[in-house]
Amino acid sequence: MGKRLGQTRSLWIGLIASVWWLGCAPEPTERAAVSVPAEVLEKEPVIRFGLNWDEVVADSGVVTSGQSLSHLLNPAGVSFTTIAELVDATQAVYDVRKIRPERPYWLLRAQGDTLPGPEWFVYQPDGRRYVRYHLRDSLFAEEARFPVDTVVRRISGTIESSLSADLEKMGAPFTLALAMANVYAWTVDFSRLQEGDTFDVLYEEEHVGGQRVGGPRVIACHFSHYGRVIPAYRYDQGNGDDYFDDSGASLRKAFLKAPVEFSRISSRYNLKRFHPVLNRVKAHLGTDYAAPHGTPIVAVGDGTVIKSGYTSGNGNYVKIRHNGTYETQYLHMSKRAVRVGESVRQGQVIGYVGSTGLATGPHVCFRFWKNGKQVDHLREEFPPSEPIEDDHLAVFQTKVAEMKAELEVR
Ligand SMILES: [Zn+2]
Repeated sequence: MGKRLGQTRSLWIGLIASVWWLGCAPEPTERAAVSVPAEVLEKEPVIRFGLNWDEVVADSGVVTSGQSLSHLLNPAGVSFTTIAELVDATQAVYDVRKIRPERPYWLLRAQGDTLPGPEWFVYQPDGRRYVRYHLRDSLFAEEARFPVDTVVRRISGTIESSLSADLEKMGAPFTLALAMANVYAWTVDFSRLQEGDTFDVLYEEEHVGGQRVGGPRVIACHFSHYGRVIPAYRYDQGNGDDYFDDSGASLRKAFLKAPVEFSRISSRYNLKRFHPVLNRVKAHLGTDYAAPHGTPIVAVGDGTVIKSGYTSGNGNYVKIRHNGTYETQYLHMSKRAVRVGESVRQGQVIGYVGSTGLATGPHVCFRFWKNGKQVDHLREEFPPSEPIEDDHLAVFQTKVAEMKAELEVR
């Protein structure tokens, strides 16, 4: 008798769940037939994981290291036979071998349900979705996504210490600095930001239940560097989001401004530099970026590795040929990550910051060749690439006007 009751209840919860699952309210006639008191009807039911949360008993936890589905279900009263059948029956929906530590799970049953073992198991692989397993009678699983809200925010300020620290102080996520550094990777050298540079940025985040699950992504930004405003507007010409200035020119230049993120220039290209290790004047034909030992060093452009080796002066170093005109070299690495002949993409990690060879501390000495001659890359002008195409221009201009209006509100 108890078993029968349990099954009826679970069916009832399942029915309610599927109705709410589809986002439809029950028909008035159905309400009348169940004759629920008026005050209950007026109360908004709390729905979680597609179940009426007021009618379930929940036991929740967080997966710990080494725990698999059986570790979570068997102690709760689900037999190994059932677990094996469940895994088989649900593999197409979600592969339980992907269950990993730190993720939350729930064991659920209807209130008053006295059957052994929970009726539902819910696992949340990430903040955007959950997988709900039915553990009795018909074994099945369903994956569902939480409704995602796109939240647009704007933040503006003046650089006081560093962009990431200033943003955090203002309540924006640290990762917004990374997103902005990416947008401006070709135009602003973030290791040379100075006090008084200003930013006004419009960005979006994806939220589920008030928690950020995606972003931040830059929509538009007005970045003022050394007194010059550099605008960036997001637009998709059909091959993904890219950033452009007012005129539709791409912010993407031929090379990244620096081979390491968030570094500090410790020594510039200088023909009459006093060498700290050799103790004499020796031309410094590169730019030194000081960064913590082990910081990834990236290729500033697409190209082919033409040297990857060690000398007593250079330490571990890599040289890349980008095209007929340009070559770049990266010295004093703690470790190299590419081999001669390998082709590399812009932004690809080619090694790690160290102090091998003639170096006083961890840094990368970045050298830039133009037509076989070493030049100061900070003084080179590179042309923009891939502008807005003619047939996109009108839409682009309309969108820019909208973004500008958002940023110009005081
Ligand atoms: Zn150097």
